[in-house]
Amino acid sequence: LTFLGIESSCDDTAAAVVRHVPGAAAQILASVVDGQVALHAPFGGVVPELAARAHAERLDFCVERALAEAGVSLSDLDGIAVTAGPGLIGGVLSGVMCAKGIAAGTGLPLVGVNHLAGHALTPRLTDGLAFPYLMLLVSGGHCQFLRVAGVEDYTRLGGSIDDAPGEAFDKVAKLLGLPQPGGPAVEAAAKTGDARRFALPRPLLDRPGCDMSFSGLKTAVLRTRDRLAADQGGLHLQDRADICAGFQAAVADVLGEKTRRALDLAPVTGFAVAGGVAANSAIRAVLETVCLAKGVPFLAPPLRLCTDNAAMIAWAGIERFRAGARDGMDLMARPRWPLDTTSPALLGFGK
Ligand code: ATP
Ligand code: FE
Repeated sequence: LTFLGIESSCDDTAAAVVRHVPGAAAQILASVVDGQVALHAPFGGVVPELAARAHAERLDFCVERALAEAGVSLSDLDGIAVTAGPGLIGGVLSGVMCAKGIAAGTGLPLVGVNHLAGHALTPRLTDGLAFPYLMLLVSGGHCQFLRVAGVEDYTRLGGSIDDAPGEAFDKVAKLLGLPQPGGPAVEAAAKTGDARRFALPRPLLDRPGCDMSFSGLKTAVLRTRDRLAADQGGLHLQDRADICAGFQAAVADVLGEKTRRALDLAPVTGFAVAGGVAANSAIRAVLETVCLAKGVPFLAPPLRLCTDNAAMIAWAGIERFRAGARDGMDLMARPRWPLDTTSPALLGFGK
């Protein structure tokens, strides 16, 4: 099966071609990602209307480039997969309209994909991981544990009750006068820091379950900064490094402990991370250690497949198509689309 994937739910316009021959590893024939960082930079955040216009303008180009790079034409495809939500509705609509147009013009089957399912099924695209596995989605906008037991079978085991970790990294960077995106800047500063100098909180560690909280940690960083500034009239380079190291260690501790608990809830074939925060090597190391101690294989897909891309959408489309899913011209773009069905039975067990 060869599928075209289209993704436009946030600030990346993406198109990809993925081929899967049963019994063999999936092949990403092309994956084009056209980011909008420069477009939104002056506003300090993604502006939905600007994003939607840019998607509408760039989608055709991205699709053409993906097909050209893959060396296939529309007649070589078996279907079209598109992110139908959740996300910024103008962007999702642009993608869905583009996919419907191609489907109508070619007669190819259309499959709508949940963006989070795209992330969640990525370990099967990269490593052919068997169900059921545990997934930690950690990015600027998401933070949740998902037990993935089938193409349409997701259980949310817990997640952040406030900020996502990536958002916390970005805010901490802002507080310390470091550049955006904050994650890489904080990680770099932390390299020369002493994580034990400042006692930063590990929110919700004292409570059972897999829920997390990161906004209190950010407030603790703010207080530490202000106290240092008041005491010594400003922040030295070493202070910054120590705060970054302490903050990063606190996030890693929380994610590590909650991963340990999530792994105890039910048996899995492996544990995989996705999202921009998965790029953090200190966090990766903690998660890997937790998995090693539990004897669970640890998977970290390459970063370009951890962040938003269309290869994961094409792949999720192939998986849904094989499971019999087909969408028609009535496919809706959905701003909200929860993936998870919280299973009380699963959550009650193992605590
Ligand atoms: P989503 O796609 O879930 O809506 P997003 O677009 O913010 O959110 P990503 O592109 O996956 O998601 O991730 C970006 C986030 O990852 C940013 O908040 C960034 O600071 C964070 N990040 C990137 N690299 C690192 C790193 N090395 N350490 C920590 N955080 C990082
Ligand atoms: Fe995403």
